[in-house]
Amino acid sequence: MSTAIIDRIKKEIENLDTTAQPEEVGVVATVGDGIAEISGLSKAQMMEMVVFDDGQGKSLEEVLSNEDALYGLILNLEEDVVKVVVLGEADRVKEGMTVRRTGRLLSIPVSEEIVGRVVNPLGEAIDGKGAIKNDKEMPIERVAYGVMDRSGVNEPIHTGIKAIDSMIPIGRGQRELIIGDRQTGKTTIAIDTIINQKYEPKEKRPICIYVAVGQKRSKTASIMAKLEEAGAMEYTTIVATSASEASPLLFLAPFAGAAIGEYFMEQGKDVLVVFDDLSKHANAYRQMSLLLRRPPGREAYPGDIFYLHSRLLERSAKLSQELGGGSITALPVIETQEGDVSAYIPTNVISITDGQIFLDGDLFNKGIRPALDVGISVSRVGSSAQTKAMKKVSGKIRLELAQFRELEAFMQFASDLDDDTKARIESGRKYVELLKQGQNDPMPFYKQVVSIYAANSGIFDNAPVENTTKIEETFLEFIERDRKEILTTLEEGRELTDEVVAKLDTAITDYKDAHATHYNEAA
Ligand code: ATP
Ligand code: MG
Repeated sequence: MSTAIIDRIKKEIENLDTTAQPEEVGVVATVGDGIAEISGLSKAQMMEMVVFDDGQGKSLEEVLSNEDALYGLILNLEEDVVKVVVLGEADRVKEGMTVRRTGRLLSIPVSEEIVGRVVNPLGEAIDGKGAIKNDKEMPIERVAYGVMDRSGVNEPIHTGIKAIDSMIPIGRGQRELIIGDRQTGKTTIAIDTIINQKYEPKEKRPICIYVAVGQKRSKTASIMAKLEEAGAMEYTTIVATSASEASPLLFLAPFAGAAIGEYFMEQGKDVLVVFDDLSKHANAYRQMSLLLRRPPGREAYPGDIFYLHSRLLERSAKLSQELGGGSITALPVIETQEGDVSAYIPTNVISITDGQIFLDGDLFNKGIRPALDVGISVSRVGSSAQTKAMKKVSGKIRLELAQFRELEAFMQFASDLDDDTKARIESGRKYVELLKQGQNDPMPFYKQVVSIYAANSGIFDNAPVENTTKIEETFLEFIERDRKEILTTLEEGRELTDEVVAKLDTAITDYKDAHATHYNEAA
């Protein structure tokens, strides 16, 4: 260090607030790439916030109350220095500047007002709609609730996607991974799940948090527009970071999402958090760690990335009744390369989630959308997180599809097949058609139950496979128009009672009588 700098440091130290303990004041030794090395902070903690001093001899309170106080976050504790990422304009940090400990671990301000807003990972509004009130500082990193604080996952979170709600049911408090190659519909599943929450009665509707990690700004903007159009922004917060931002901000985004979620969970509410995606998060962490000069591990990721992701996902929980019964359901997203799930980050995240939704590029290109690979997708919470009504109708789908996959291989020899096999293939193809679903068009569970019940009862029998969608659509229209009470009873009771079954059976017969055209080859 030059003598000029040393002189300045001396002067700064003279000016310092004398109430501060000496070990709570440090000096910037070097700065570059948004990372500052600070000496003198021997008692600092990991993830603690420090504040850069402007050298005006202000007290800590004064520095902290300054509107544009510049913060740093401690991410490396070394023998005689700590390394800090600058949370803001890094070029304001100069060698020789004084830095003070705040004694606070990084936290973000949260209040009810954050719902409906777009914020950065520091909790600051970035949607131009004004500041958000601060009700409580929520720590960004923390230990998750323990086993005794939790209760079993037994209430569904409906995605509105038939293939998922029927076969891969997700429960409130569960961690379900959405995994697949680029452009296979991962984000769409997460967004549709958020949109679908509008069909939940208000008291059951979860607060949704969409965390965009290093997404293009245009993509995040179009997601917000979709949510707004669907009326889903009313109960959603977006935590946005873009690819052009510094890696530490991308790194913090999922933790900020979890912290916002915890604010609501601790009030006994249900929360849904989407981390889109943790592959980009791992890359941001790798980049940041290079700047911090940490030793790289497998695939050049720092060794503790597994620990970080598992701590993050552990924070989703279903709290016990004593703690208010709130929950955080997590939908982390992972991007694979050429379907390779054995790479480091995918295997890690697979091992710390309670199930996976696998999306397949080939299925996607064949037009099977959502491109769910039903054979390997699972939910380990399973049917305890399904409504009784859905449980009753969904068993048959799995069976039909499994049989269909086995027989599909023989389809090219169709002329040699016996009638029974042909019929089973035909039926399987109709279920595949039934499970196709357009984007941004989630279906509430009670309509799904009606559709699937009708399929199981043979509503598609004797109709060409191509007419499956048409029949489903017109049948649902007919029910909604003329037999509305079926839907209301299912929505409220969530059970497929004998009475509803009888009404559905009559409805199917009536529908068939009135729509003979859909059963003709020509239709
Ligand atoms: P990325 O890897 O770029 O993040 P992704 O896996 O998140 O992509 P999406 O962005 O959700 O995929 O979808 C990819 C494309 O496929 C989009 O253009 C989307 O509109 C389309 N798509 C997704 N799901 C469906 C669907 N069910 N029906 C029709 N099109 C769909
Ligand atoms: Mg995506």
